[in-house]
This record gives sequence, C-alpha cells and structure tokens, in this order.
Amino acid sequence: RVRGARLYSEEDPLTILTSDTLKETLRNSSTAWLIQFYSSWCGHCIQYSPTWKALAGDVKDWEQAIRIGVLDCAHEKNFEICKEFGIHFYPTFRYFKAHSSSSDIGKTYRGADRELQTVRQLMVNFLQNHTRDDWPAGCPPLEPARSADILSLMGLKTDHYTAVIIEDEDSYVGREVILDLMAYDGVIVRRVLNTERTFMEKLGISSVPAAYLFRPNGTHKLMDVQKSLRFFFSSFLKLLPGVRRKQGPSALENAGGSRGQDSVEVWKEFDKSKVYMADMESGLHYLFRVELASHQTLEGEELKTFKDFVTVVAKLFPGRQSVVKLLETLLEWLVSLPLERIPYDAILDLVNNKMRISGMFLSEKLQWVGCQGSRPELRGYPCSLWTLFHTLTVQASLRPDALANTGLEEDPLAVLQTMRRYIRSFFGCRECGQHFEAMAKESLEQVKSLDEAVLWLWRKHNQVNSRLAGALSEDPHFPKTQWPTPDLCPACHEEQEGLHVWNENKVLAFLKQHYSSGNISPKYTS
Ligand code: FAD
Repeated sequence: RVRGARLYSEEDPLTILTSDTLKETLRNSSTAWLIQFYSSWCGHCIQYSPTWKALAGDVKDWEQAIRIGVLDCAHEKNFEICKEFGIHFYPTFRYFKAHSSSSDIGKTYRGADRELQTVRQLMVNFLQNHTRDDWPAGCPPLEPARSADILSLMGLKTDHYTAVIIEDEDSYVGREVILDLMAYDGVIVRRVLNTERTFMEKLGISSVPAAYLFRPNGTHKLMDVQKSLRFFFSSFLKLLPGVRRKQGPSALENAGGSRGQDSVEVWKEFDKSKVYMADMESGLHYLFRVELASHQTLEGEELKTFKDFVTVVAKLFPGRQSVVKLLETLLEWLVSLPLERIPYDAILDLVNNKMRISGMFLSEKLQWVGCQGSRPELRGYPCSLWTLFHTLTVQASLRPDALANTGLEEDPLAVLQTMRRYIRSFFGCRECGQHFEAMAKESLEQVKSLDEAVLWLWRKHNQVNSRLAGALSEDPHFPKTQWPTPDLCPACHEEQEGLHVWNENKVLAFLKQHYSSGNISPKYTS
C-alpha cells in the first residue's frame, strides 16, 4: 500500500473511486459528481481532507442530485486513469454532469478558494448548469418559483407541506434547503426572490431570508425558527409531523416483511425534551436478563468489566429506589465474593428471585417510550443504552464524589472506559462495538475532566448519527440528526462562514440539564 493512502475510508460519507470503478460510475450516472483527484503523499491533500469529509457530510442528503467522490492518483493502480483524465496537479476538483458520456473528463474548478461554503455553492451553480435534457432525475427545481403559483396554495388542502424560502438574489439558503429536503417525503421546498414586493407584502415579510409554511390542512404562516439560517430551516422541516426520509427499495422490502407482526403495540405519547425512566429500566432489564445471560460464566477481564459496570450504575444511576437498591445489593454481593469465576445463573437468580422478597425489583417488561420505534425491530435497546450512558456521564459530572471508595474515584474516564469495555465484551452488535472501539482508541485519552467526558460521548454519538443517516437501521419516523436539534436547544447552534458550528459551552449546559434527574420522567414505569 502507498504510504498514507488511507486519507479516506469506507466510513466517510463519500464514494472512494478507483480505476476499476471511475468510468463505470460516471457513465450515464443519474446524478452529477464532484470528484477530488488527490495524491496521498501531497501535504496539502492531507491537510485538506477534513474539509472534504466535512463537505461530504454536509451535502449527504443531496446525493440523488450530486455526489462527492475521491480518487487517489498516488495509488499504483490509478496511475493510468489519472493520466487519461489529464490530472497534473493535486488536488484537482472535477465536476461531471449527470448522464455524461464515457469520453467526458469533467470540468475543472480552478478557483483558489476551497472553503467548504464556496465549494458547496459551486455545487449548486453546477447543478443549475444542467439543461432540461440532462437534469439529474432526483433533483428538485432550483429556480425561483412564480409568486402566483405559491399564492394559489393559500387555503388549499394537500397531502404535504410546502415551505417557501424568501431571499435575495445572491443568497444560496433557499437552494440549499431545497436540496437538504430532497431526501424527505411529505414536504416540498420552493424559493421566491425578495424582488417580488407584492408577494412579500401579502405574506407580511419584511426581512430576508425568511420562510413561510403552507400546511396540508390549508393553513399557512411564517415559519417560526429562532435563527434565519439554513440549518434551522432544514432541521425545522425535517422534524415536522408526517415528514420522513424517503426509503430505498431494500428498506421497503424489510418493512413489508415484518408488517402486521407486532401491530398490537400501542403508541405511547412522549415528549422528546424529556428522558424516560421506562427506557433505561427496560434497557437494564434487557442487558441483565438477555444480553449478559447469553454468557454462561463470567471470569477474568469479562468479570472485571461486569463488576465495574455494576459499580458505575449502582453509584450513578438516578433510578427508583427499588432498582438502585437492587443494583447496590448486587454490587455488595459481587465485591464480597472471592470467586474468580461466577456462573451467570447465580447472578440471574439473585436479580430475579432473591432480591424481590425485600422489595428490590427490576421490571421484566420491555416498555420503550422515548425509544419506541415505528416497527418492533427499530430503536429500543441500543437507544436505551445511549440514553443510559449519557445519563451516567452527566451524573458523574454533577456528583463527582459518587464513585468514592469504589476504586474508580478521581478518574474522569471511569464511566466512558466502563462503557467502552462493556460494549467491547458484551454488546450484541459486534460491528457497532468495533466502530465504537475505533473511536475510543482515537481520542478517549484526550478526555481530562468529567465535563469533557460528557462532551466526548455527545460528539461521538453525533458521529454515529451522521454515519447512520439514511441507513437501513434508521427509523424513518426518527431520522438520525445532529442532536440536540435547534428546537431543543437554539443557543447550541451557530453559523460561522456558512458552516454550522456548535456552541459547546451551551451544549454542555444543555446536556447537564437534559440528562439530570429532574428531567427524567417516571411516566409509563409500572
Ligand atoms: P439513538 O442514536 O439510539 O439515540 C437515542 C437518543 O439519544 C435519541 O433519541 C436522542 O434523544 C439522544 N441523542 C441522539 N444523539 C445524541 C447525542 N449526540 N448526544 C446525546 N444524546 C443524543 N448502529 C448501526 O447500525 N451501526 C453502528 O455502528 C452502531 N454503533 C453503535 C454503537 C453504540 C455504542 C451504540 C449504543 C449503538 C450503536 N448503533 C449502531 C445503534 C444506533 O446508534 C442507534 O442506537 C439505533 O439505530 C437506534 O437509533 P435511535 O433513532 O433510537 O437513536
């Protein structure tokens, strides 16, 4: 392998092309492409790769219109193809129109400005360079709509929302929001220019960009977002009831396969600004009685991991008394045992039978609330595990003395290392565990305080959300988004040079409130 060749990996939200796949991919593709021909030994390419990955993540939802690719010209295998495409310098950025022919070598972007926002806007311009004949099939219209067409929607009942972004001629917000929502059903986004004065007056709009929403029931009003930014508009629309991510053919087959199997489950109303005790208790029930119970005996490293897990949960879980008592007693029992090997049945017996007599009890029902899915195979347990561990990291930072005399005190990494080892040894989804381990290996050691631990887990969870957006395991009713969304925490979101950025101080404050005991609802616990 060429040194440094792995600037990009399969994990990144882009397509890695080679001499075997480049032409085949481009020929008559239904989408346009923007490809970076790079060289893995070129210092600038290495420095630029985080920007390119961020761009690819930022425009992932545009992939039915335009896709992002990379090809490494330093790889021996690709020498010929880079010559054929006339690549002399690295990086070279080439645009390829949709439906291009096999002799098309693309159009080079020669500008010196390679900032993310500039390249994203170039992608929009490039899309608009298509003609009616070669327009990418999945790409919605990007031209401004006629104001008369929009006004005719007033009072009209339809099966979808229509959002209209009103903006000035130089603005890209409208087109970016149109593209952000193209992967979603239930909403159509259009744009109108602020030169349409009568239109503006009719809708009562005085400053731009602004967004106006026509609801399916015929009512309409100005869209209520805290900041007039692309991310706020797009996020607001993605979260409207009834708006959901379009599904690929395989996801639909999957849905068909399981339809009707579990239709008896009654939907439980819940508030997404709350954390539900029922989710965490159900998670612990599944963890103790199903996931761990598949291990006949615990010994060595696994036993140590189990003990630390019980320690952390017993000391930090802000649960109901009956559950906390059960965890504390289990911990005392484990600590008092001189055994190096424990049959798991003994633990089950304790959890299921012995403790119940003294009122220590962990419900045996799976009762998903904030973690309920629109189909039985979606969400549930993994959702509850994230919830549990976020709660534990927050509790550790709110109550730094809680782990005193356990052997885990004064370690800012106590919760995260325990989570890491639990996931590695016991979490049933192997591949998830491997991904999590890779993330931990890369950056866990940089965590130096209990607050940083809270933020680390938040950051990594968002990284997983971004990787899984649009994947088969995504519940279409709960699209994977960067969290907390602007409706939950407007102050967490800011924009710098056209790129969405987090205000991490505000995020930390939000997480500490969200996962605090005061925000955990006992609803639906039996
Ligand atoms: P989840 O992602 O489970 O989130 C649960 C809740 O946490 C959300 O509803 C929200 O309220 C809150 N939340 C969301 N983001 C954040 C954040 N950044 N910080 C704090 N709170 C947040 N699935 C795969 O297909 N592939 C994988 O590689 C994979 N790896 C995983 C690794 C781990 C350690 C875990 C616990 C799960 C993993 N999963 C993986 C499962 C996946 O992440 C989801 O848990 C699952 O798809 C259910 O998704 P969900 O919509 O319920 O939301």
